[in-house]
Amino acid sequence: MASMQYPEWPPSENQPALSYSNIQVYDRCRRKWFLQYLRNYVPRDIMFDIAIQRQLMPVTMLAGAIVDAVVKMAMRRYMRQREWRPDLHSDARLALDHFVQHSKLFTMAIDNRERWPEKKHTFLRPIDMVYYEGEFSETQRASTMGVVDTCLTNFIDFMKSEDLHDCDPEGWRIPESGDKPNPWFWSGEIPVYAGYDFAVVDGRQLRIIDWKAGRSERSEYGARDQLVWYSTFAHKEWQFEFEEMTLQAVWLQEGNKITRATAAAELSEDMHRRWSSLYAEQGAAIGTISRNPLDYEDLFPLTEDVMACYSCQFKSCVGRKRLQSMYPEVIRAEQMKLGDDDIP
Ligand code: SF4
Repeated sequence: MASMQYPEWPPSENQPALSYSNIQVYDRCRRKWFLQYLRNYVPRDIMFDIAIQRQLMPVTMLAGAIVDAVVKMAMRRYMRQREWRPDLHSDARLALDHFVQHSKLFTMAIDNRERWPEKKHTFLRPIDMVYYEGEFSETQRASTMGVVDTCLTNFIDFMKSEDLHDCDPEGWRIPESGDKPNPWFWSGEIPVYAGYDFAVVDGRQLRIIDWKAGRSERSEYGARDQLVWYSTFAHKEWQFEFEEMTLQAVWLQEGNKITRATAAAELSEDMHRRWSSLYAEQGAAIGTISRNPLDYEDLFPLTEDVMACYSCQFKSCVGRKRLQSMYPEVIRAEQMKLGDDDIP
């Protein structure tokens, strides 16, 4: 199998590497970006709560995290043993139970004022719902597993329909597990994560496939961008020419609808320009906050999209209080939903 190595991570980082989620968070809410990525500048009075909340995963991301973990483990096994896991759906139930147990242990450790290991687990993160509400509701379990089951069924159907299910996996590439799960590369002076899902090498042809567990309606444009991003990584790190690549996002919840993107040097250069100006903007903001840490509220304002605060894991942020004062019925409905779920 060809090498899947990427460079050693630079030992000291003053600025977070660019990643798809870094940019998404930055675009959506500057305050969230500050709380998530700039741990050294968070004021002392909220530092403790924010350090905890930063580790949480919004429950809305859980189905995608389970699908990703189960699919990647199944594919790695097939690459090693040429044999699929017998039942991905029961693997997914096991993964969900692990997420819930992990979240309860995290909550218990925080409650007991115990130190939680700094090192992140490869894919498990504590779910915000369990931390804030003490339980993972049955309603949430049913809706999460509904999405996961659909995605896994469609994943297998896709692999079969593309003749990838029983083929020789010699040319397959998926990110490594363990300590180095995140592929990355230098785009000029900028470190960029490129967490692709699946690539297939066939001679000088490279096919990059990105699994999507969400819905395409609001994220199809972003999915195209992400594929161009991965093609830049493949060009730099694996030395494929752009015209040798096929890029596809496969929407597993939507009957394997495929979004295609074009790999081209111009698109990649355009993306590099966007990365450069964004990275410079983030770097300038970090420079300013390091000189004036008390100005964080002005430098990193709350999002204007008030409803974004509903699914945000930073519930001690004042954005949550703003949501509560503007839309008290939203918070009341959430509390009533919790009450209903408590009834056996
Ligand atoms: S609660 Fe709202 S304003 Fe605060 S970080 Fe989250 S999304 Fe941003």
